[in-house]
Amino acid sequence: MTSQSTPTLETSVSSSRSTAITVAHGDGIGPEIMRAALQVLREAGAHLDVEEVRIGETVYRQGVTSGIERAAWDSLRRTGIFFKAPITTPSGGGFKSLNVTIRKTLGMYANVRPTVAYHPFVRTRHPGMDVVIIRENEEDLYAGIEHRQTDQVYQCLKLITRPGSEKIVRYAFDYARRNGRRKVSCFTKDNIMKMTDGLFHRVFDEIAAEYPNLEHEHRIVDIGAALLADRPNDFDVIVLPNLYGDILSDVAAQIAGSVGLAGSANIGDHIAMFEAIHGSAPDIAGKNMANPSGLLHAGVMMLVHMGQHETATRVHNALLKTLEDGIHTPDIHDPAHSLSRATTESFAQAVIARLGQRPERLTPVDYQPTELTPGAAAVTRREPAKKEMVGVDVFLQWTDGSPDALAARLSPAATSALPLVMITNRGVKVWPQGFPETFCTDHWRCRFQGDSPISHRDILLLLERVAGQGLDFIKTENLCTFDGEPGYSLGQGQ
Ligand code: NAD
Repeated sequence: MTSQSTPTLETSVSSSRSTAITVAHGDGIGPEIMRAALQVLREAGAHLDVEEVRIGETVYRQGVTSGIERAAWDSLRRTGIFFKAPITTPSGGGFKSLNVTIRKTLGMYANVRPTVAYHPFVRTRHPGMDVVIIRENEEDLYAGIEHRQTDQVYQCLKLITRPGSEKIVRYAFDYARRNGRRKVSCFTKDNIMKMTDGLFHRVFDEIAAEYPNLEHEHRIVDIGAALLADRPNDFDVIVLPNLYGDILSDVAAQIAGSVGLAGSANIGDHIAMFEAIHGSAPDIAGKNMANPSGLLHAGVMMLVHMGQHETATRVHNALLKTLEDGIHTPDIHDPAHSLSRATTESFAQAVIARLGQRPERLTPVDYQPTELTPGAAAVTRREPAKKEMVGVDVFLQWTDGSPDALAARLSPAATSALPLVMITNRGVKVWPQGFPETFCTDHWRCRFQGDSPISHRDILLLLERVAGQGLDFIKTENLCTFDGEPGYSLGQGQ
């Protein structure tokens, strides 16, 4: 591994005096590993002014559905830095994901996960693997906008925005430049989702042109994922929309062999959060056997973020030396490479004893301040496109017959401004000229579109007539052009 393996983030905070951070000890193994990690950071000379807050299971159990109290929010907004141990999300309904809530509420748009193989000291499928996954954190299917629309059909809205895509893609290229990386890859499924994933891909190509010294490539996510699992050494930095990033960052950590060792950073313009990638491991809680390395790696990322580069270098090199010396907690213990079976506490002590040392076989790190620090994520200002409404898709719940029968019911409702032009079922055109073999649910999209621009009043009139036909419309989507380009899929589906 190299010094590029851990991110150089924003370094606006002075390194000479203590920096206030918010710390949550979490649930399960959280308190044990946080105690160990803070001890190492302090012994290494980190200047930390810790504000402790409570989050997680006890807060959920008190009826706070977000798992985080008001006082914790206040602390986070004051310090801008969150060092967080894993928490337990109680099973059963009603509890929101604390991580999703914190990320979205505080605008942490980038999730940065270095995945590194520690061959031969930790078992891995891919010696030499050193990939950084940069995942968009706020958009995509994680908007949480879901509806049951009909008896048979449920929907989750996938939202991809131009500003959101620009922020994450620019962050990925800036990250690569700051950390001496050579290539940025982007995975999407824009052969299918031409508008949403297509936008992410287009923005990637636009921003790549601003970084001529970095290689860039786009792959369809399915083959990209297969190649990542098979030949991770072909990749360097990978930027992804939220869902693909969520899945592939776990795949990458697993094949690197470092699930218990990896840290991650969530970065926003005002607040950053640092944590291990694993959960609260209730099965081993309180047994003094948890591996604190993931949280320690997160701590190193935090020190770099705070501008305490020298301390970050000391901690990271001591951690590598400890792994190299075969001092391993049970989760990575292997008689072939391990010399002693460490507890959480004795592992932390071993790291402390090696502060100032460097690994001999693993590549040492050397964090340096960089002039290439970005400011707040830049979003290109652009004039809004000229928007014209040209039609409407009306969605219906209907079970009373064939597509032709539905068209016959709808025809009297259509107007001269909005004639019926197409009906689809699950995106497949079933009228006109559908195939009898097409399986149809109770969820129909009926497209009404004329030759000229229309008004909201035209849509209201149409809906009134559709309802007058006794049809149950469940939602509408306006069809608009933007600077003359259709802002909707043609939806033929065949
Ligand atoms: P987990 O990561 O907690 O545990 C999976 C397995 O890995 C377990 O066998 C555990 O013992 C082991 N493990 C995890 N971390 C380890 C460590 N540091 N050292 C040694 N072994 C370790 O995943 P899970 O069991 O699916 O989830 C447990 C709880 O954690 C759930 O409530 C889940 O919601 C929560 N969780 C929280 C976070 C977070 O706070 N960021 C992330 C993931 C899961």
